[in-house]
Amino acid sequence: MTEQEKYMKEAIRQAKKARALEEVPIGCVIVSGGKIIARGYNRRNTDKNTLSHAELNAIRKASKKLGDWRLEGCTMYVTLEPCQMCAGALVQSRIDEVVIGSMNPKAGCAGSVLNLLEVEGFNHKVKITRGVLEEECSTMLSDFFKELREKKKRLKMLAKQQAQEAADGDR
Ligand SMILES: [Zn+2]
Repeated sequence: MTEQEKYMKEAIRQAKKARALEEVPIGCVIVSGGKIIARGYNRRNTDKNTLSHAELNAIRKASKKLGDWRLEGCTMYVTLEPCQMCAGALVQSRIDEVVIGSMNPKAGCAGSVLNLLEVEGFNHKVKITRGVLEEECSTMLSDFFKELREKKKRLKMLAKQQAQEAADGDR
């Protein structure tokens, strides 16, 4: 296993924490000097907060740990391509590099919809590495959405059944 895969595995572990809370499984870690200094996972529904994406949760922790808002010399490993909000925060944090598991064609801002990490006009650019443990990261997401669809279908059928029973009872 490469160094990058090792840290991506840790990001996947964080994503599984989100999944355990029935959140979309997205996780990340921030590494500095060969050590993980912060971890984060998606808690948007749990916290009822748009800002509670994995990346922002980890950035907050890393800054607290380093006692600095600047994350110079750090690398983030994240299971899914960051959105516009997180990509913006990553540029603001002056982080060195972002290593991405799977891309997000409909919402990603590290090259899919936009590439906010490498805009020439900004004063900081973030190096991007894509496709580390890509299959594992994307399967984790597609499995989650598949289960969610099946769960919704079951609930719908159950509701229909109950409505039918109630109607039968009225006769
Ligand atoms: Zn985000």
